[in-house]
Amino acid sequence: MFDVKLGSLLGQPEVSAFLRGIVSRGRYANAYLFHGPAGVGKCTAALSFARAALCERVPGAATVDSEPSLFGEAAPAAGGTGDDACGQCRGCAMAGTLQHPDLHFLFPVSAKDTKGETQKIDDAIVETFEDLRKDPLYVFQYERAASIRIDQTRELQAQLAYRPHTASRRVIVVRDCDRMREDQFSALLKSIEEPAATTVWVLTTSRLSRVPVTIRSRCQRVRFAPLPESLVRDVLQEKAGVADEKKARLLAAISTGSLGRALAMRDEPDMAIERDAAIALLAPPAAARFNGLWTAVQKSTGYGKAGRERLRLRIEFQQLWLRDLLRARYGAPRESLVSPERHDALRAQAASLDAREIRRRLMVLEEALRSIEGNVSADLALFSTMARAGGDRLGERAWPVHPTGRWDA
Ligand SMILES: [Zn+2]
Repeated sequence: MFDVKLGSLLGQPEVSAFLRGIVSRGRYANAYLFHGPAGVGKCTAALSFARAALCERVPGAATVDSEPSLFGEAAPAAGGTGDDACGQCRGCAMAGTLQHPDLHFLFPVSAKDTKGETQKIDDAIVETFEDLRKDPLYVFQYERAASIRIDQTRELQAQLAYRPHTASRRVIVVRDCDRMREDQFSALLKSIEEPAATTVWVLTTSRLSRVPVTIRSRCQRVRFAPLPESLVRDVLQEKAGVADEKKARLLAAISTGSLGRALAMRDEPDMAIERDAAIALLAPPAAARFNGLWTAVQKSTGYGKAGRERLRLRIEFQQLWLRDLLRARYGAPRESLVSPERHDALRAQAASLDAREIRRRLMVLEEALRSIEGNVSADLALFSTMARAGGDRLGERAWPVHPTGRWDA
């Protein structure tokens, strides 16, 4: 059961207070846009907000008509806090299992929107709902091309002409709304602009710039921050079954405040091995052995999506290492390091690099992370990055011959 409340959102106190304020006043904007990094709880917050808005014990929750309900009991009972889902009423129960007739939840699916694939998409949607009900820490993962299904939004559009079924309003949550198509956005825009609408849209995105300005400007925006590293570590250890303290610490550090990312990586066998492989790549260019680096890099990544993810992880581990180097350089205590068990190696390296050089290398890595989204090949990107992060500028002749593999080939 999806039993989350606004009062128990992880690590977003301002957002939680803001949304509860809306619920307690019972006055909703036509549309909200939850934005911020991926994996920090935007979708969980959206569904919790929807649940509170559909609770029968919050202000403004009286049903539209006074017909006796199917279940015999009419008036909303007292109880609840008035600014959050009470967790006990019929509305809460239905929304808690994502089965409230006035709650619509749209999310991207990975299959193609063609005729033969329809059944596959339907199955994927049903499966996702089941997983979500079973696992409160469920992590959405889909391909780059995943999109919000077109006939789902069409179906919804038809319903918008009617009044909500049982609640006084209808709530539509669209996860990763930036994955909608142009015609879906225009339909959405029309609905948002409708005066006195009974529909509340709650859109989420981790790619704000991909949401059309026309939509952005008509939504009330709610910003989500990255989660504190310590919180991610605690959730991993206490709720997600990561017993090993060292692994939880590395995952939390590499996730940069995204619990979703940390959870998605929790089944990786050994993060310390991944880290050491990444750090090893920083060594060859220091001695200007480009051929050695090239060989190491080619062994290190792969092609396609997995290759890109691996590359990202490698570079992120290197960033953590360089940040540890900076800390070691300034004499930070061992416990404050991400890799305290490699304290001696850090101290030794830190002695030979000045802080400016470490920062320059960090910038090279930052640039590489940004370029990963582009259609470059993993090994070439990593090679170029490592060569530059290792302190050398590459001349034309130094570039090795490159195979034709690409991310999306
Ligand atoms: Zn309730």
